[in-house]
Amino acid sequence: MQGLMMDYPLTLHHFLERAGRLFPYKEIVSKTAHGLARYTYADFYQRVHRMGRALRRLGVAPGDRVGTLAWNTSRHLELYFAIPCYGAVLHTLNLRLPKDQLTYIINHAEDRVIFVDTSLAPVLEEIRSEIPCVKHFVVMDDGGGETELAPRVDYEDLIAFEQGSPEAYAAKETDAAAMCYTSGTTGNPKGSVYSHRAIFLHSYGLTMADTFALSERDTLLQIVPMFHANGWGLPFAAVMTGAKIVLPGRHPQIRDLAELIQGERATIMGGVPTIWIGIHDLLQQEKFDLSSVRMAATAGSAIPRQVLEVFDREYGMRLVQAWGMTETTPIATVSVLKGRLEAKPENERYAIRAKQGISVAGVDLRAVNGEGREVPWDGQTMGELQVRGPWITSGYYNDPRNAASFMDGWFRTGDVVTIDSEGYIQIADRTKDLIKSGGEWISSVELENAIMAHPKVLEACVVAVPHPKWQERPVAVVVPQARYKGQITKEEILEFLAARTAKWWLPDDVIFLDAIPKTSVGKFDKKVLREQFKNYRLPGAGQ
Ligand code: ADP
Repeated sequence: MQGLMMDYPLTLHHFLERAGRLFPYKEIVSKTAHGLARYTYADFYQRVHRMGRALRRLGVAPGDRVGTLAWNTSRHLELYFAIPCYGAVLHTLNLRLPKDQLTYIINHAEDRVIFVDTSLAPVLEEIRSEIPCVKHFVVMDDGGGETELAPRVDYEDLIAFEQGSPEAYAAKETDAAAMCYTSGTTGNPKGSVYSHRAIFLHSYGLTMADTFALSERDTLLQIVPMFHANGWGLPFAAVMTGAKIVLPGRHPQIRDLAELIQGERATIMGGVPTIWIGIHDLLQQEKFDLSSVRMAATAGSAIPRQVLEVFDREYGMRLVQAWGMTETTPIATVSVLKGRLEAKPENERYAIRAKQGISVAGVDLRAVNGEGREVPWDGQTMGELQVRGPWITSGYYNDPRNAASFMDGWFRTGDVVTIDSEGYIQIADRTKDLIKSGGEWISSVELENAIMAHPKVLEACVVAVPHPKWQERPVAVVVPQARYKGQITKEEILEFLAARTAKWWLPDDVIFLDAIPKTSVGKFDKKVLREQFKNYRLPGAGQ
């Protein structure tokens, strides 16, 4: 028997129209070159439609890719809706990618129009002759000066004479709404294409009480760059709920973020661990009132457990770990405690919160070993994490590497995990970051977290270095907190670790640096470190 409910399309138009109707007075705040700019959802709504109409006038046809090279600004937020709601595909470009990868991505996606903040235009000027597919540049003045890009039109001029009411548009929920390329650790970046339906359902996912519980009463500070996996889907979900939105604008520094939290009384935000570590470092030196925050999501790489503890204890700010990938829209697991686990002793509660969490309703997960068999949920046995669900990629855009990325309808994440009996996953490593020592695996993530628990350590990264006998051995790269610079020794770190890990896991060497190189989205860049230390002679490794 058929269900007798309407086949109503799950598209972003619904979010936009509802928000325009119900929340016209809600605020959207942006940090600009001239200070904070405020407008309302009513203004936003009108400008989205004016831009949608302007896109049509520019000749953008359904399915065309439209790139954005932009900071987190209100114009970028407008494009998050104007592009997909008028049938085109929002292609967010990572502004920190090297030129060759940016060129590859623009050509691979065949971007027809690119919206660019003036401060970021020089990158495009340099590669202009290599991206002939781009027919127009739309320039967004963020105080970054003039640009020579051609042909170009100014954003404000483009929408000046358009009407702010909706034009007829019909979209299927399965149509592409957005796309985003992974930063590409090996080879060229790979493109994920998000349907309206995936973003719609993912947004619901973010509003669930056991996920981020994002609601109309929240004030979202959009820290995650909007080019990093849809800004973790938060901008879409915020407009869906009618939350107040705060956008930090051009090149935000840690202090800017703290000021915005304090000044706008932000309640919810997401960021990679280096953001929280940075905020902690700042709060050690200066006072900010962050008491408005009810939920700070951390994802992208593992958060050291003691960072969770410090934020609870010292700042009363709850960090909640989530896991996801560009390919998973991105949020797929969240580490909230199940009710019965609240009764566990504090120590165990933190151990659970330091895991990456249980699946968000809608996402199925499993871990599979080298023989293709599912591993038991015993919290011990490692396997590759595989996921499936309505917001998980079903294939990279025009890419021959698809075959290797799927197994029996499951997406292979390339992350090695354990799953405990309650269903909490714990990331041991990305497959390529695991340290293979004498036929056994060492989790670099676990070692890093153990080192970052040391009170004098700010950041730590552990990478594999080739070893004549063991194949690979771990080496720790450590950044001391500013006030302990020069006052911490290798022996101190190793002694601290010895009490916390197996002896054969102990790093063969500890190297102190002033900073750990970061990827374009702020994660520790292990590729760069591995390259830097590939010829490193380990103490005691012989010739
Ligand atoms: P990039 O490849 O540029 O890092 P993504 O942000 O898509 O792009 O990276 C997804 C990967 O980030 C995951 O496969 C996983 O390895 C890592 N990751 C995401 N969240 C977490 C987390 N909470 N803990 C540990 N690793 C994480």
